[in-house]
Amino acid sequence: MTDQTASHILRALPSIDALLRTAEARSLRERTGIERLTTLARAVTDELRAELHAYAADGTTINGKMSRESLLTEAARRLERAAEADVSSALRRVINATGVIVHTNLGRAPLSEAARQAVANEAARYCTLEYDTETGARGRRGARVEELLIELTGAEAAIVVNNCAAAALLVLSALARGGETIISRGELVEIGGDFRVPDVMAQSGTTMIEVGTTNRTRLLDYGSAITEQTRLILRVHPSNYRIVGFTAAPSLAELASLAHASGLPLFEDAGSGALFDLRSYGLEDEPVIRESVAGGADLVSFSGDKLLGAVQAGLIVGRRALVESLRKHPLYRALRADKLTLSALEATLDAHRRGTSFTEIPVLRMIAQTRAEIAKRAHIFCQRLKARPEFSVLRFEITEGHSAIGGGAAPMTHPPTALIALAHEKISTSALEATLRLGHPPIITRILDGRVVLDLRTVDEAEETELLDALLSLEGAPRS
Ligand SMILES: *Cc1c(COP(=O)(O)O)cnc(C)c1O
Repeated sequence: MTDQTASHILRALPSIDALLRTAEARSLRERTGIERLTTLARAVTDELRAELHAYAADGTTINGKMSRESLLTEAARRLERAAEADVSSALRRVINATGVIVHTNLGRAPLSEAARQAVANEAARYCTLEYDTETGARGRRGARVEELLIELTGAEAAIVVNNCAAAALLVLSALARGGETIISRGELVEIGGDFRVPDVMAQSGTTMIEVGTTNRTRLLDYGSAITEQTRLILRVHPSNYRIVGFTAAPSLAELASLAHASGLPLFEDAGSGALFDLRSYGLEDEPVIRESVAGGADLVSFSGDKLLGAVQAGLIVGRRALVESLRKHPLYRALRADKLTLSALEATLDAHRRGTSFTEIPVLRMIAQTRAEIAKRAHIFCQRLKARPEFSVLRFEITEGHSAIGGGAAPMTHPPTALIALAHEKISTSALEATLRLGHPPIITRILDGRVVLDLRTVDEAEETELLDALLSLEGAPRS
């Protein structure tokens, strides 16, 4: 190709201004904002220019279109797609059909209806965050949440920070900075890659004294490590792994007696932390916070968005004097929870207090659902699918399977469930999975034994119709 033809082709490239004047760009203006739209238009024309250069070099065409007009159409189409990609990277609701209940990548716990109402209708506006309407004077932030936590755990006092990692950092900084903290080698946990107990210890300025071995640590190991420098004994719940076989660890009560005999506090990072005993649902060894408090732990921390079923938060309960020393620590101001968090926590804890947690709080409702109940929902769902004639291209079958607790909790617990296995006549398994994931709202599924499977355990009943409609609209899905 001659230089002359190359520059002729490049002249057909639409200008950014021309692109912004297209009907497509005009309709995107309000939603995207003119600055962002201009940035996207520049990126699109840059991309086309690069492709035109490539054409000049080797003769490849851009979708076979080379006229000024067709390039403008192509540019407008790409601009629309780029603006759409912006929207799809926004924080959006999804339908979780994976059966993983506390799904960390999908925002861990979905909120209860009451918590959503409280956030949207109360806390999102001006609210009584630090105001007492009785006296017209300043009130204490989080007072109601603290009262509920005290009632639900039997502790003397409570305090709330941003997450459980912040709780550990605050406790270690306030109680053990400059001194030593004793921990078993079996509890040097990593949670989700960025929370590592040894790193949090180092950050808080306490010296970690490891005792025992990976599988066995005895009370005597702790006892012989206590020195003048010891400030704290730390016990961490191994949330996301289990050491099985030849193992030993002292009970919490034994550890508490040892700590107290030396005038030391015992701090338990309980992780998920159940407010009630969930053993009957297969969660064998999730510490029940009330039992930890009664067993002698001086401070216990746990997450707000795991088994509690509320929002990201670090809840700390325990002895009044210790909790007050946390409240006075300068780090507390940096780590304290905001009004939206407190509001969702308050509504959720209130359901726990009223004894309606298993009906009101999605995470607990999902844990409590039996295989038979899910199978019944799956059958009704499939009946509804069959009733729709469009459904000739889809094959579905109910099969046995397992859900998961997720969120680093109960790694050995796999509640039995009924799965809806899907196959599409025209599109592959991976294309089916992707089509559902790219929908509005995105539907997140699993692929098991070469089929896309839906686990209704984590799908709200109110979402079933939406899910059904999404499956029905698959007729127009791209082939692959
Ligand atoms: C999950 C977990 C954490 C971290 O909690 P976040 O609320 O995610 O910060 C810390 N410790 C244990 C034992 C956990 O299980």
